[in-house]
Amino acid sequence: MANPKKILIEVSNRHAHLSKEHLNALFGENYNLTINKSLSQPNQYSTNEKITLIHQDRKIENVRVLGPPRESSQVEISRTDAFHLKIPAPLKLSGDLEESPGIILKGPIGEIKLEKGVIISHRHLHASEDEARELGIQHNQTVVLKVPGLKETIFCKVLVRVHPEHRLSFHIDCDDGNACFFQDGVYAEIIELN
Ligand SMILES: [Zn+2]
Repeated sequence: MANPKKILIEVSNRHAHLSKEHLNALFGENYNLTINKSLSQPNQYSTNEKITLIHQDRKIENVRVLGPPRESSQVEISRTDAFHLKIPAPLKLSGDLEESPGIILKGPIGEIKLEKGVIISHRHLHASEDEARELGIQHNQTVVLKVPGLKETIFCKVLVRVHPEHRLSFHIDCDDGNACFFQDGVYAEIIELN
């Protein structure tokens, strides 16, 4: 069953979520993140703080930190980044860090070795309970979304995340964003429920 409702698309560039302990180690004691801009999900924001990812002889600089701090530090990269860093990052849902590799994080004050937490975040759709009801979708099901445009693309296996505080938004990484030639002002729509 298709639903033509327009769904906001957000392309996440590589980023890191830091625990308070790691934030202090990288930026200094009692450091407070400074907000760059708010994201679609309530209380989530990108910050002006950036770190460097280092793995063996490879690195990626200027990786943005997202706030607020979390229980566990987590680094989300694209598969293209994973090839560059030569790191076997698994495809995961954000927050699932089981069997993910670690990496060295470098900030202006110091560096730390994460034991685990480098993942490629799988595409997913956030929705509030009301939005889910309107769309006829449920938490943990998958849907098929179409992104129109120059390289109109159909994304399968989009996992639905329903939470009272979520806002309707389709989250993809840069590889997915580039695959469909994403441009601002383009919206996704559900074309199939699985
Ligand atoms: Zn998300």
